[in-house]
Amino acid sequence: MRPNIEFLAGSGIGMERGIRVDNAMRTSVADIYAAGDVTEAPGFHTGQPELNAIQPNAVDQARIAAHNMAGGAAVSGGSLAINVLDTLGLISTSFGQWQGVPAAEGGAGVELVDPARNGYLSLQFKDDVLIGATSIGWTEHVGALRGLVQTQAPLGPWKERLLADPTQFMAAYLATAQKAA
Ligand SMILES: Cc1cc2nc3c(=O)[nH]c(=O)nc-3n(C[C@H](O)[C@H](O)[C@H](O)COP(=O)(O)OP(=O)(O)OC[C@H]3O[C@@H](n4cnc5c(N)ncnc54)[C@H](O)[C@@H]3O)c2cc1C
Repeated sequence: MRPNIEFLAGSGIGMERGIRVDNAMRTSVADIYAAGDVTEAPGFHTGQPELNAIQPNAVDQARIAAHNMAGGAAVSGGSLAINVLDTLGLISTSFGQWQGVPAAEGGAGVELVDPARNGYLSLQFKDDVLIGATSIGWTEHVGALRGLVQTQAPLGPWKERLLADPTQFMAAYLATAQKAA
């Protein structure tokens, strides 16, 4: 993805790969806001500028920008990387920090390969929170992976259960993230 922002050259609006915004969708110029694919907004996990050009982020950012342009004080929780793809009928998804973090930073992960269904599942944890996930060939309940990542629900005993059997992510979601909500 490459935002079409060349026309802003010389405007004074801070840009790198996209228009830099803060969590209120403010650009570096007072009273000018930006949202959607053109932005590099603070990442959900990193807080650093990220270009996550997907519709859910565009919608969230547009709502926050509009609210704040009208005098509100809305704040984004951060832009989250999400991909859902259909490749010749094989569905793949990824959420958040799917690549994980080093063990020295509290990282741990589990991978499951299921050749019978062309299936693959990877869960990545930081301490007892799911920070990222990748699936191939899984279509049931994959939204629960996003829910676990986005709510940052402490998994408690469910972390060990998921490390032993990552297919239990829906049960983990019901017992932790949804229960907390
Ligand atoms: C092929 C494709 C598949 C995608 N699939 C998915 C998907 O499955 N899931 C998902 O979440 N996201 C998907 N996306 C991304 C999603 O479409 C975008 O994240 C979303 O449309 C971003 O909304 P936006 O309003 O920020 O930008 P846009 O929808 O790009 O709207 C920007 C508008 O600004 C106009 N514009 C540009 N320059 C100027 C200018 N100088 N002056 C005036 N107007 C201008 C453009 O013509 C356009 O109408 C896909 C995108 C593509 C291209």
